[in-house]
Amino acid sequence: MFGSVVVGIGTAGFVRIRDMLAPLPSSAAEKLTVKGFISRRILEEQQGVKQITVEDALSRDDIKVAFVCTENAAHEENIRVFLEAGKHVCVEYPMAMTHKTAVDLWDLAQEKGVVLHEEHIELLTADFKQLKKDVAGKRLEEGFLHFTGPLKSGFGFPAFSGIARLTWLVDLFGELSVTAARMEEDQENKYMKMTAQLITKEQKPLTWIEEWGPGLPRAKDINFRFDSCTMTQLPPATREPVGIFMQDLVLFSQKLLGQVPRDQLHAERRRVLHCLELADRIQQLSLQGSAQDA
Ligand code: NAD
Repeated sequence: MFGSVVVGIGTAGFVRIRDMLAPLPSSAAEKLTVKGFISRRILEEQQGVKQITVEDALSRDDIKVAFVCTENAAHEENIRVFLEAGKHVCVEYPMAMTHKTAVDLWDLAQEKGVVLHEEHIELLTADFKQLKKDVAGKRLEEGFLHFTGPLKSGFGFPAFSGIARLTWLVDLFGELSVTAARMEEDQENKYMKMTAQLITKEQKPLTWIEEWGPGLPRAKDINFRFDSCTMTQLPPATREPVGIFMQDLVLFSQKLLGQVPRDQLHAERRRVLHCLELADRIQQLSLQGSAQDA
């Protein structure tokens, strides 16, 4: 069994505890057992699970795994401390706020001989699986993905907090390059809009917009023009019986048990690092643009 601790009790932390308390029957996730949670707040028991200190979690032999579910800005520090202690880590996306940090953390995991897993539930939704099937075999001419949502503090630059959308684009259309990026921000009104121009290996343009602000609904607008047709809506898909966080828990557990093929692990690492590299570049270009405007 892999004793685990959950770090950060927000939405994701709550779900991790819930899923470990009731894992998918007969799945690898049954090998995980939650031993405690860590929070910067002093909290009562959560779903019957007790709060413990970081020191306790790091030194206990029965705790082998940490789930890092804090706001993005605190991921690096938490991942590092658990990897250093030889614990496996599952982190909610994005792993880090720079590409270089992610490479360092992955190297550290390798050096310690432990699993470092970045959750990507957006690839596990029924909507996305259907979209991927529908896109397969079509040749993209031009694409557009616009996300809107409410702004949260501590989640960082939109190319990182919105990495799920970038991961969609990379998973659908292959590795990309950034040709331009800009950022509009109104700090007083807690509003920001990032526009990134990307290009596929076949030199086809993709526009990715992340727009965050008070009252903006969480929504995705797509327009993918192919050689044969245009897609302007996510295809309807039937909700799957196994939740997306549970699917991710099963994948992580399979990694712990050495059940995931090496080439799948490599491909996943390559995709994660590629997306973070693109996010870095988008941030750089956006900041350059803002500096020129000032
Ligand atoms: P959240 O805002 O619910 O919680 C984030 C952090 O804030 C947690 O560490 C929590 O302990 C802390 N927090 C919450 N309320 C607090 C309070 N009143 N005082 C002090 N601290 C408080 O965010 P979340 O949705 O759980 O996201 C956590 C991580 O999971 C992020 O990295 C996010 O990108 C990732 N993630 C979340 C989801 C999701 O569906 N929620 C999906 C994918 C990835």
